[in-house]
Amino acid sequence: NQSLAELDPEIAEVLKLELGRQRDTLEMIASENFAPRAVLEAQGSVLTNKYAEGYPGRRYYGGCEHVDVAEKLAIERVKSLFGAKFANVQPHSGASANAAALSAMITPGQKIMGLSLAHGGHLTHGMKLNFSGKLYQVAAYEVEPDTFCVDMDKLRTQAIAERPDVIIAGWSAYPRQLDFAAFRAIADEVGAKLWVDMAHFAGLVAAGFHPNPVPFADVVTSTVHKTLAGPRSGLILCNDPELAKKINSNVFPGHQGGPLMHAVAGKAVAFKIAASEEFAQRQKLTLDGARLLAERLTADDVTGAGISVLTGGTDVHLVLVDLRNSELDGKQAEDLLHEIGITVNRNSVPFDPRPPMTTSGLRIGTPALATRGFDIDAFTEVADIIGAALRDGKDADKAALSRRVSTLAKAFPLYEGLEDW
Ligand code: PLP
Repeated sequence: NQSLAELDPEIAEVLKLELGRQRDTLEMIASENFAPRAVLEAQGSVLTNKYAEGYPGRRYYGGCEHVDVAEKLAIERVKSLFGAKFANVQPHSGASANAAALSAMITPGQKIMGLSLAHGGHLTHGMKLNFSGKLYQVAAYEVEPDTFCVDMDKLRTQAIAERPDVIIAGWSAYPRQLDFAAFRAIADEVGAKLWVDMAHFAGLVAAGFHPNPVPFADVVTSTVHKTLAGPRSGLILCNDPELAKKINSNVFPGHQGGPLMHAVAGKAVAFKIAASEEFAQRQKLTLDGARLLAERLTADDVTGAGISVLTGGTDVHLVLVDLRNSELDGKQAEDLLHEIGITVNRNSVPFDPRPPMTTSGLRIGTPALATRGFDIDAFTEVADIIGAALRDGKDADKAALSRRVSTLAKAFPLYEGLEDW
């Protein structure tokens, strides 16, 4: 019964330092968030001990009467949140949700068509080293070189030529909304299934600030830890009972053994929170913050230094900074912001002239800061700090910018009292 600090001081120290890092710096990685205390409690609980292969009421292990309640609550809550008839809440991650979803729709050797990784798609949408690129034929679509958006007419022509079995709408780095109705029409025209991966924007959908893909798609997958701010994990939704059966059997026993019941309980909590007015307010601030960031980074003094944002703005929770005309490359810009206490990730821009380890872009997101309580004034200040750093590059006054970051971090305390939980 020793505490972590007593039993394993080295790991206890890692937790302490990481909590300090999260508190003292500004987290702007677009795929990250801060799970609320209630979610952390569910995750750090005795539910981690329980094997529960199968589904509620149909388990391969005894003693599942309590974890069944947690999983049923998670299923009912997520169905109601997104208006879906069926939900599977067992995927350990977004990638495992996607693997199970794909194998429920098609068999190896059939063809998928998703946004290319280099243009903002995800590894699981057909990247050649990923299961999706190894098991299936891949016909990737791209964004346009002038607008950096997906052109639906071109996508239709490509789909007619390629005849994919599954069309994928979804992204990891794309600052605009996709037209799900147009995707549906193209999928119907070529006889493909439509899969929407809403991992990034699910929180915006839950709050009503982004069109809901569920009425259009055959299958919708998501992570739970990005804009949804839940435990690190995945989920699958659909409306067709036959497909739902295939999804369930492709998650378990197809791709996974025992579900992580502590994570499933954490999902139930996160879905309850996501239905609240407070969550909706936070999603609004997430969006307002991202729009403001895009505006400040396209101000004359910043663009004068060769910095701009792809598509000229954003409709979602992230901004893609374009550094193709800047002296700073993505790696240097990421390092510079890291030095002043702002965490972002470098990202290739479509048609990037620089190599993938360097890149000419940054992906900057606002979900974690909105969760932290950032208001418009605070987002304005952080946008101006980033703008000044990128504009001045190697000449940036790092000490002064770090002080401004610290002031913001102190003004919005994170996980107060966590040491005592
Ligand atoms: N799908 C999309 C669109 C993503 O952006 C991500 C994660 O970045 C995933 C799936 C995979 O999620 P995970 O990292 O939980 O496997």
